[in-house]
Amino acid sequence: MSTATPEAPTYALEIRDLRKTYAARGGEAEKEALKGANLMVPRGSIYGLLGPNGAGKSTLINILAGLVNKTSGSVSIWGFDQDTNPRMSRASIGVVPQELHLDPFFTPREAMEIQAGLYGVPPAGRRTEALLTALGLGDKMHVGARSLSGGMKRRLLIGKALAHSPPVLILDEPTAGVDIDLRRQLWDYVRELNNEGVTVILTTHYLEEAEEMCDRIAIINHGEVIADEPKAALMGRLDSKTVTIVPASPLGTVPAMLAERTDVSTILTPTGALAITYSRSNASLGVLLDLIISAGVEIRDVTTAEPSLEGVFLDLIHRDEA
Ligand code: ADP
Ligand code: MG
Repeated sequence: MSTATPEAPTYALEIRDLRKTYAARGGEAEKEALKGANLMVPRGSIYGLLGPNGAGKSTLINILAGLVNKTSGSVSIWGFDQDTNPRMSRASIGVVPQELHLDPFFTPREAMEIQAGLYGVPPAGRRTEALLTALGLGDKMHVGARSLSGGMKRRLLIGKALAHSPPVLILDEPTAGVDIDLRRQLWDYVRELNNEGVTVILTTHYLEEAEEMCDRIAIINHGEVIADEPKAALMGRLDSKTVTIVPASPLGTVPAMLAERTDVSTILTPTGALAITYSRSNASLGVLLDLIISAGVEIRDVTTAEPSLEGVFLDLIHRDEA
């Protein structure tokens, strides 16, 4: 993997007090999409930018990509300031945009070659075929982009972002419209790139996805970074988990053995199932299941709900105020 400097920087990305106000348009008022965001992304990490729709994730990514002009603040990519060293900072980053935008008239092979050309990669240094093959598009190199599925387009966009071998790869909502199998492949590939030394930043509004992929997670809400910490620390703060136990036949009451426990909260659902909320650090699902079985309940199904993003925010805001 090529690096843009002989000495790799400590931080792949340094964002300070980044602000963006979109001008008023049509009947809409101006919009402050970023309100002084700060972010330091260590080199070599897989970094998750997590936040609900409208939080400002794409605005931040598009500023990095040079597609949106920031209102104020500073951005440094791979140690190169975006304002004073635009060429090097641009060469250090590859961005996969949220929208599946591809020119329908080019084949994947052509699209890759054009992209490499735009970045001044000489023909001998191009990795078109290797990248397309690694992305599972080896047999699609010569078809029209129009005939690619959503998942294939997403992978071609990843290929394009990597055409100039940037040390930093940014993926904006990479799994939107991608089915489960492909998602797995995509993550495997992203991990592989990361193992080769590429710093990866991805945005998602799925906590589960950030939890699975990232070693560090920042949460962005209403244009502000409200948390930024190693995944384990963040997940530790999101301790509460709810499991729903569906019995073979509907229950009329909460079994006494559960009702008596002060460390879990159990609710009987309208369909006669048990919704148990417990703290992962104080109770284990196994122990709870044993308890239910020993109360004579035959279990038909168990479903767990990941803490919702709203839950995360409430939890974080609550803790910040405490
Ligand atoms: P996210 O990617 O987290 O969903 P965005 O960065 O796309 O969030 O949007 C943040 C806010 O900025 C939203 O309220 C959105 O409506 C607004 N916004 C995004 N792009 C524009 C634009 N080009 N003009 C005006 N407002 C915009
Ligand atoms: Mg977005």
